[in-house]
Formats: sequence, structure tokens, C-alpha cells
Amino acid sequence: MSDDPRFKPLKEKDGFAIIPDRWKIDYFASAGELSRFFLELKDNAKIMGTRCPKCGSLYCWPRSWCHDCYVDCDWEEMTPRGEVVVFLDADGAADPREIAELLVPIAQDGADMVLGSRLSGARVPLGMPWHQRIGNRLSARLIRLLYGQDLTDLGPFRAVRLARLTEMPLDDLTYGWPTEMIVRAARAGWRIAEVPVSCHRRTGGRSKISGTVRGTALATLHILGTIARHVRA
Ligand SMILES: [Zn+2]
Repeated sequence: MSDDPRFKPLKEKDGFAIIPDRWKIDYFASAGELSRFFLELKDNAKIMGTRCPKCGSLYCWPRSWCHDCYVDCDWEEMTPRGEVVVFLDADGAADPREIAELLVPIAQDGADMVLGSRLSGARVPLGMPWHQRIGNRLSARLIRLLYGQDLTDLGPFRAVRLARLTEMPLDDLTYGWPTEMIVRAARAGWRIAEVPVSCHRRTGGRSKISGTVRGTALATLHILGTIARHVRA
């Protein structure tokens, strides 16, 4: 659908991504024979892929035909399987190619959760205004102080072992969820690692959080409140 290499179709072996938000999609034409992907998502909250009947490759983004075998693919619902869940915002700020880097500490060092930090490493976080940078650093410092967990950022782009995630209750349905997951994980003694990720300017929608200084301030207060609440709990 897009020529942007960040949106190359994922095959089953690449894993799956969860997008905990509503999608607003600007489009100029129908998605043609792949419309079913959008209709199932909108009407039934199902994520659909397609499978090649010949080689068995599973595509999500769906492809109408297999580029290896030149045969038509069949629709198939994507159900939660595998060992690792990856979270990322669906606004183009994160680069899905970096999922591979998030998986390394899980595969090689036994990490339970790997957080993508937009504020460590050499890459300039183009998509993050100064006020959001300050808010994130402040929150990360508070977590270090209270939980001894050395972090530089509390971004949403992360990989988590599915077995760990399913034991964790999460209450926050708004922008506190990334923080809640971190403080609950720190309290539960998870092994948490951090790797640098890039942060692009968003390609879709307008942020309710980082768009303005006021929005960032309110979000930071909410996040600091989340951190404090779990210390008491
Ligand atoms: Zn095939």
C-alpha cells in the first residue's frame, strides 16, 4: 500500500504488532480486494492476514497474491500466538524495522521486557518536541529513584514476553499505560532492558499529548501520578 520501506508486509516469522488505539486513515481510493482488512478491523476488531495456499507464507499486511508462488492467497484471522508481543504507536513515529533490535535482549540475555528509548543513542528524536523530552526524562528519573530501574525514556515502542504480559493486570486505558507497565514490571522483578530507537515526525494525525506544552504538562502529571500510585499500592 505504501512505498515507505517502514511499512513492508510482515511475515509470520517476523512476529505481530499490537496497536492499542483507534486508526484514522486518510485515503483517496478504496483498498480494492484488500478492503476486507479495513472492514474487519472497523466492524469486528479483527486483524486479518492472508496465507499462501502453496508455500504457507502468512502475510500481514495482507497480500492478495503470493509474490513467491504467484497464486492467490486466502484470508485468515491473526490470533495471538508466539512468545513476544511488540507495541508501537501507529502514527509513523516508530520504525518497525527496529523491532529486530528490541528482540535481541530477549533472545540473548533473557530480558522480559525491552524498552525502545528515543532519548539514548546518537539518533536525534525529530518527532519529540523539547517539552516532551523534559517530561520523559523527569518521569524516567523518578522511576530510577523509586524503583532503582535505570531508564532514559518511557516510550511506547517495546517488546514484552507474552507469558509475562498475561500475568500482569493493566488498568490504565489512556497515555499512562506505558508507564504503568514499567512500574508494575519493576515491582514484579522483571528483567528490563533498554535499546536506542529512532523517533520520526509523525506521519498521521495530531498528538493529543505532545502537540502542545499544555498537553505535555497534563500527560506528564498523569504519568507522575501513575508512578506515585504504584509506589503506594
Ligand atoms: Zn507462496
